[in-house]
Order: sequence, then structure tokens, then C-alpha cells
Amino acid sequence: MTKEEVLKKYFGYDSFRPGQETLVNGILEGRDTLGIMPTGAGKSLCYQIPALLLPGITLVISPLISLMKDQVTALNQAGVHAAYLNSSLTAGQYQTALRNMIRGQYKIVYVAPERLLTPAFLQAVEQISISMISVDEAHCISQWGQDFRPDYLKILDFVDRLGYRPVLSAFTATATREVREDILALLDLKNPVCLTTGFDRPNLKFIVRQPGDKMKEVLEYLEEHEGECGIIYCLTRKTVEEVCEELVRRGYPATRYHAGLADRERKINQDDFIFDRRQIMVATNAFGMGIDKSNVRYVIHYNMPKNMESYYQEAGRAGRDGLPSECLLLYAGQDVVTNQFFIDKMGSGGETSGQILYGREDPPIWEYEDGFQEEEDLSELLKERERERLKKMTFYCFTNECLRAYILRYFGEYGSNYCGNCSNCLTQFEEKDVTRIAESLVGCVKMARRSYGMTVIVDTVHGSKNAKIVKTGMDRNPYYSTCSEEPVYFLRQVLNFLLVQGYLHLTDGEYPVLELNERSREILEGKQILMKAVKEAPKKAEGKAKKAKEKRLSIGGAEDIDRGLFEKLRSLRLEIAKKEKVPPYVVFSDKTLVHMCLLHPGTKEEMLQVSGVGEIKYSKYGEAFLEALKEA
Ligand code: ADP
Ligand code: MG
Repeated sequence: MTKEEVLKKYFGYDSFRPGQETLVNGILEGRDTLGIMPTGAGKSLCYQIPALLLPGITLVISPLISLMKDQVTALNQAGVHAAYLNSSLTAGQYQTALRNMIRGQYKIVYVAPERLLTPAFLQAVEQISISMISVDEAHCISQWGQDFRPDYLKILDFVDRLGYRPVLSAFTATATREVREDILALLDLKNPVCLTTGFDRPNLKFIVRQPGDKMKEVLEYLEEHEGECGIIYCLTRKTVEEVCEELVRRGYPATRYHAGLADRERKINQDDFIFDRRQIMVATNAFGMGIDKSNVRYVIHYNMPKNMESYYQEAGRAGRDGLPSECLLLYAGQDVVTNQFFIDKMGSGGETSGQILYGREDPPIWEYEDGFQEEEDLSELLKERERERLKKMTFYCFTNECLRAYILRYFGEYGSNYCGNCSNCLTQFEEKDVTRIAESLVGCVKMARRSYGMTVIVDTVHGSKNAKIVKTGMDRNPYYSTCSEEPVYFLRQVLNFLLVQGYLHLTDGEYPVLELNERSREILEGKQILMKAVKEAPKKAEGKAKKAKEKRLSIGGAEDIDRGLFEKLRSLRLEIAKKEKVPPYVVFSDKTLVHMCLLHPGTKEEMLQVSGVGEIKYSKYGEAFLEALKEA
């Protein structure tokens, strides 16, 4: 078979995506390879296809049990014999799997890194011939990455013991230079084919909003996206509880996930989401690592996350199937404070107060097989780095330029400054002269008898009479009430603009306060300040929600599809998935169902034209779907 035939027969796809072919070719030529591609780009196929063409077995090193399970389920569905070896198996099951591997029953075997050097595994591999070792999530080998796994360092040791050298291939979505160099060096890749594809995800629409009432905003959003799968990320466990409770109270099919829940409940909730029994997952950042659910239509960040790396990774869980999906970030000033609090607490360990524990940042939940302690002392340098990253994240929420351009530039890519598919590109801006407001704000900071946070300064120039202003005597500040005609939100915007532009300084720490810096003088001397601001939006058109809903019915972008038919195919898929005990998207992806609605196949040949329907899948489900289409 050729690689194209494998692609079609087992996976049902007609063509490779950008980058895939180069990597597959590299491996088939016997060269080591390193593929760096964004989430959802299709890295798995890059090693799965060669694995089916190479003579021996392919070992895939993967960091998470859930990830291995997902992949092995999908492979078996596609008619490929695969298995995993990790701590979720009983001793008996493990022995059986090893025996089957030796007997040559599997083409692909997923294995946890900590298994590699165990005597039982080493003994077993002596009796098989390994063609390739593939390292998935390869950034785990680097201490520069976010998810360092010391066990990944055992991989090279393992290869050295084999006595022969299989092809080594490595894949990750982390693009920084440090991580790439670590992977090359620590896996000792020989003259490798290295490929980095663009990091853009054109099917994702990026939106930033600063609503006064986040819950209300979410409810409005959900109303427009009924029936779709989505994730809502919150910064703290407490917020997860609150948001989830409110959604459930209002009858939404929501569930929750954070590190404070018992293992059992976490597992149940995660499965409810993966199997489409509950469409909305409210979670901390503990959720998502290794979740390959392809039909996530939106990711809402209820709070701003700590840095752009986390944001893009979490937001990137939307739209893995390539269909249009949305990433909405809801910003509030408090998010900065919470994140700063987390950074200050980094590495301090042993929290005692219940409140702090509850507010704790969740680490991703690794399934470790042997003890691994996180390093206790995170140096001040690390904290400094985190603060810098937090700033860049905050700027993302305030920039008026193309959000996609901002993200890509953060990851070192330069390109067009207009994507036409983010809230900034879709908003009209106008340049406003804010010289006078800037002068008031900076003047107010200068004349205050001590340093205050942003709220006090904004309230002062706005002329608020709240208790704090009176108590601090800020109502006697010469700039008190000098901008009373401006709305508070706009004053905040200008203040943020001044911070971003470096005309004022905001201190770090739990209670950040404003201070003058070397550039503040320019403002006090009357320098003209122009700021891009949102042009007065026309009043919310009536029936906007309805229209949005109608628009959404055309899943898949421009083409209109028959929603009724789509729903019908979807329930057939759910029925099959339940019977086979696999997640629905493993049977067929949303994209495949959309394609079926468009092509409306009536025969086997036509059905095989549908993207995602290969011969194996056809033999299992083809007729059931043909039947459903015929009745339609
Ligand atoms: P990654 O590991 O890079 O995040 P995956 O390997 O999980 O991404 O693939 C994401 C999705 O893209 C999967 O649903 C997969 O079936 C699909 N996919 C991969 N390659 C192709 C292709 N050539 N054509 C269509 N879909 C593809
Ligand atoms: Mg992957």
C-alpha cells in the first residue's frame, strides 16, 4: 500500500494536511523527524501512517493515560490493531498485552514513559522488532516547557539499550526555540527532518470582551449556541463551582472538572462531556490535557488565564475538526489580581487557609506511575518571567490590533495584521484625543499623598463619593472630579492604555499600585495622546440572537446544510457510540457528518467520497448511515 492508500482506507481522508506529507516521507525514508504543529493540525497521522507501512512495531511514548486511551480507541475503530501499556491495566491485562505484542498482534503500541526501563517491558521488547519510536507531546522532555516530565529523559536510555536504532520521531505543539533544541538534543535525533508549520488556526474566531456582568454574557452566548459542545475555563475552583451551579440551575447540560474533586467524579464528568452526555464543561486549567474531543465548538475563558501559552493551548481545544469555532475571553481587572496572587504564591507550597486552597491554581492532572515531586523553590527569576508573561496576556485583552496577529507574533510568526475573523478586525475603531484625561489620571497619581490602585485613581478623577474615596481624602485631590463626564469604563481604558504605552507604572504584588515613571512627565507637560477606541456601536439590532442562531445552523461555514438531517445523523452516531462504548466523535467527526449532509451519498462509492469515511469505517457503519440518508 502507498501512504495515500493508507490515509484513505483507514482514516478516510483524501489528502494530507500541510506538513503531514513531509513528515511521513521523512520517516519512510528512515530519517529521524521532528514535527512542530499546532493543536488539531493532525500530528498523530504523521506517525500512525508510517507505522502501518513499516515492517516492525511502532512504540508511541505518550504522557497521559487518557490520551493513550483515546488514540487506541480511535485506531481500533479505524481497523488498526493497537494497544496501550500503562498503569490503568491490571497486572493480568498488562501481561496479556505484552504477550500479544510479542505475538505480533499490534502494529502500534502506546506506552507510558515510566514503563520503558522496567524489567518486564525490556524483556518483552527483546523479542520484537521495533521499526520506530515516536514521542508524542515531546515538549515534556524539556524543562523549559510547561509540562516537564522527568520520565521522558528515560527514552534515550531505552533506545541505547535496544542494540539497534529504530527511527525516532517526535511531535509537539510547543514552538519555542529552547524546547525545540532540548528535544533535538535530549532525544539525540540524527540528521532529522524538522518541520514547523504555521501556528495559525484559521477556523478559530478570537473574541475579547469586558462585560460588566460575566454570567449574563455567558448566558447570552449559550442561548445562541444551544446544543453545541463547549468548554468554559475559570481561574479558580470556586468560580468553576459557581458558574456550573448557575448553569445547571438554569437547565443547561453542564458539568465540572477541577483538581479538588475526587478522582471518580472527575472521571465521570469528563466522560459525560466526551460522550456528549453533557455538552458544557466548566473547568479549571486542570482539564483538557490529552482531551482530543474534536467537536468542541467554543471555548470561553470566564477569566483571563496567566499567559498566552496557556491561553492558546486552552482556546485551541476548540475546532480540532477544522470547522468554524469560537474562542471568547471575558476580561476583568480582578483576573490580573488573581493571577498575580498565584504568581506570588508560586512554590511557597503548604497552603493552610481554606480560602487560599479553594482559590488555588490547578495544576494539570498527571497520571504518575511513580513518585515525582514538583520542585519546591521557584526562584524569584521564574516569578519575574511569569509576571512578564502575565503582562503580555493582559495586553492581549486591551490591544486594538488584530487578535490573531497578536497571538502569532507572540509565538514568533509575522504576517498580515488583518484576519477579518477576530473581534478587533470586526470592530470599527476611531482615534480619540485623550490628552486631557491622561493628564488628569497622571496628575491624580502625582498629587496623591500615597500610592493607590487603579480603582481609587479612576474613581477620584470620575468624582465618586464612595467610602474609600472619602476615607482616603482623595476627594481633596486637585484632580478630583475633573473627568466626571466620562464613563468609568472609558477612564479605565485610558488608564490601561497609559500603562501599556509605558507612561505609568503598576507595581507587582497582591495589591498593585500606580506609580509615576520616567515617562510620566511627558503627559504632565501636555503631550498629545491619541488612543484607538471603539466607535459608538449602533444599538443592538433586535433579533440579533435569532439571526446569530440562524447563521450557526449552517455548520461548516458558507454552505447551508439541512439541520434536521444533521441532527438525525448525529443521533444515529450517538446510538452507535453508546452501543460500542466509544465517544461519538470517534465513530465519525462532526465534519464527516456535515460532509455527508452536503454530498448526500446514496451508494457505497459515493459514501466513500465523504471525508472521514474509509473502507473499514464503511464496513462498520456505512450502511446504517446510508439507510438514514435514504429515509431523509
Ligand atoms: P494534533 O495531535 O496535532 O493536535 P490530531 O492528530 O489529534 O491533532 O488530529 C486532529 C484532527 O484532525 C483529528 O480529528 C484527525 O482525524 C483530523 N485529521 C488529521 N489529518 C487529517 C487529514 N489529512 N484530513 C482531514 N482530517 C485530518
Ligand atoms: Mg496530538
